Amino acid sequence: MRNSWGRLTKPKHQLFFFSEPEQLEVAIQEKSPGLPFGVGRSYGDVCLNPDGVLWDCSGMDKFISFDQDTGLLRCEAGVLLRDIQQLVIPRGWILPVTPGTQIVTVGGAIANDVHGKSHHRQGTFGDHVTALRLLRTDGEIIECGPEQNKEWFAATVGGMGLTGIILDAEIKLQKVAGPWIETENIPFASLKEFFQLNEESEHSWEYTVSWIDCLNSGRGIFMRGNHSQVQKGKEPGKLSLTMPFTPPISLVNKISLRLFNTAYYAVNKRKKGTGLTHYEPFFYPLDKLLEWNRMYGPRGFFQYQILVPHQDGCEIIQTVLDTIQQAGEGSFLAVLKTFGDKAPVGLMSFPRPGITLALDFPNKGITTAKLFSRLDAIVAEAGGRLYGAKDACMSPKLFAQGYPELEKFLQYRDPGITSGLSRRLMGS
Ligand SMILES: Cc1cc2nc3c(=O)[nH]c(=O)nc-3n(C[C@H](O)[C@H](O)[C@H](O)COP(=O)(O)OP(=O)(O)OC[C@H]3O[C@@H](n4cnc5c(N)ncnc54)[C@H](O)[C@@H]3O)c2cc1C
Repeated sequence: MRNSWGRLTKPKHQLFFFSEPEQLEVAIQEKSPGLPFGVGRSYGDVCLNPDGVLWDCSGMDKFISFDQDTGLLRCEAGVLLRDIQQLVIPRGWILPVTPGTQIVTVGGAIANDVHGKSHHRQGTFGDHVTALRLLRTDGEIIECGPEQNKEWFAATVGGMGLTGIILDAEIKLQKVAGPWIETENIPFASLKEFFQLNEESEHSWEYTVSWIDCLNSGRGIFMRGNHSQVQKGKEPGKLSLTMPFTPPISLVNKISLRLFNTAYYAVNKRKKGTGLTHYEPFFYPLDKLLEWNRMYGPRGFFQYQILVPHQDGCEIIQTVLDTIQQAGEGSFLAVLKTFGDKAPVGLMSFPRPGITLALDFPNKGITTAKLFSRLDAIVAEAGGRLYGAKDACMSPKLFAQGYPELEKFLQYRDPGITSGLSRRLMGS
């Protein structure tokens, strides 16, 4: 069964799995509408097509070319970012933008125009895609990129899989000396301190991100890093653990949250200072525990990720945190980051200049829905938006308000493609 990371429902799909684009072309002719699927690392229904067809693209996973002199890599859309990193880093190149997990396909990374810890320097994943091939369900193949068929490129980057199926893409990599990052962890006591640290860091640090303790409004750990010239450090262990089963109830509750947040802050406060860290634990700490999403039990969980403008950002984020606390809720994973000024590539790309906060909440039905409606009101009032890759309950009104290019985007939709999210937010 294919599902999304939040495991909020048990969707039924008619699944087509293939390893060659030609097989996909046949599958599309046999049965559409459908939806391209990567590896389901989106949290909500952007990658689901309940009771419909799913075209699982993860089998299209071949590398096509890699020029070691220019750092230009071409691969099929089902290749995982992890496999790219493992191929190119030993050869002196790296993906300039990756999300908090490397178990994501190239197709999924483009379709959600994902961002990472380098947004203030490198923008989004789409900023480094130089070309892609898009298969429409009528059989047409469109080659597009920042220079060629620009309008198709702008609709497809961040287009949530709704403009066609990405067959392959060319990506411009970034030169690096090796896999090591010079890192620094700095505890902060308030949001105000976070913003001060952030401002001084963005000029001289390539990667910045913070964990915040939502139960103790505003304190947290600021993490920053730069690529190192050093060639040797302490290699991370190869072993990954797997959450072996889904417990009958969520393991995330008020008690475990308080224990986790207190312990995480204390441990990281003790580890404050500089270090040399391998890129994997620095970029993808959560990949060490596979299937960790099971700990939320059979009802699953939501990730709620907002973006609000810089103006009054500190106060807005504080209001969001206070609202969560007043509702008696909290989040294990609370990630705070600012986005840089780079104009987004995609019409529907999530990042814009501003502040983003991502929080995980166990699915408690109506209680969670009530909390989200309060948070949505704060986001709407601030002129902000929610991230479609994480969303499962945004209203069409908030979507249209947050994404002013929606009408333009709709002109590029493929009529043979539909998703849970598109039906919920765009009516088809
Ligand atoms: C632990 C964790 C951390 C994360 N951290 C971040 C983060 O820091 N920043 C961030 O931006 N995101 C983050 N994400 C979200 C994740 O990066 C995105 O949801 C990503 O798009 C998932 O890719 P996927 O390959 O799993 O695609 P799926 O989730 O399967 O699909 C995502 C979208 O891509 C479309 N799609 C997939 N393949 C194709 C194709 N070949 N052609 C056209 N469309 C296609 C689907 O239709 C769907 O709309 C995180 C997720 C997890 C689980």
